[in-house]
Amino acid sequence: MEISFECTQCGRCCHDLRLTLSVAEARVWAGRGHWVDLLVEGWPWPETYNADGDPDDPASQWRLATSFPVTVGDVPFRVNVRLVARHEGACPYLLPDMRCGNYDARPRICRIYPLESRPFEAMVPARRLCPPEAWGEGLPVLERDGLAADPQAASILAAHRAAMIEDVAVKERLVRVMGWAETAMAGEGLAVCEVAPAVLLEALDVAERGAPEAPLAWRIVTNRESTRAMLADLDCPARLVAAGYGFLGSFSDLG
Ligand code: SF4
Ligand code: SF4
Repeated sequence: MEISFECTQCGRCCHDLRLTLSVAEARVWAGRGHWVDLLVEGWPWPETYNADGDPDDPASQWRLATSFPVTVGDVPFRVNVRLVARHEGACPYLLPDMRCGNYDARPRICRIYPLESRPFEAMVPARRLCPPEAWGEGLPVLERDGLAADPQAASILAAHRAAMIEDVAVKERLVRVMGWAETAMAGEGLAVCEVAPAVLLEALDVAERGAPEAPLAWRIVTNRESTRAMLADLDCPARLVAAGYGFLGSFSDLG
């Protein structure tokens, strides 16, 4: 099966950004004074049950490869930390004619869009920001049988995915350096750690060299009372928050 596509340069993907960056890319982005948030989600991951994930489930294997273990109370979790360039409105590099003013140094995620960055997820055109006229027969082939048709795009996508795995160790040290120990439950939302660019760069410098040995006292943030109560039954520390500042929720603030 083929999916054909040609960018119309509508600029939609360069607005209201949430660009997942590698550590190296985050250094460049923050080094230019732009904010990079930490978005954190976690999965309960009992060590006595399928500690290595489901070998037949690509999503489970990807979670395992891109996360690190923590305990929340006495409950083992795996936590994924994403470094994300988040920007309301137009990207600071977007030019008035919708061209990228950072073309040669733009992050990999910009180079591969609208391809799907996660290996276990199929790319669905309807879920992309690109307008209808960007898709259709007669345009260059973007994807063939679920794989990027263009070898260069495939190579950039592979490099992006590899960085998500290789960066886990430094991200694990980064949260310890920053003393950040809150995660959302995966599927329910994302805990947001907003950090000034200069502070992030300094913390990354320290994290590249090492990190405090003392374990962090992790807790869950949730905007659902039902989740908080369920976690309380497990003696799992949790904090109820309203979606918005510090928490990006998938659900409204309901019980
Ligand atoms: S860096 Fe360039 S391609 Fe990426 S969001 Fe900004 S303007 Fe768009
Ligand atoms: S949203 Fe799609 S069509 Fe529009 S600029 Fe981005 S990649 Fe191109």
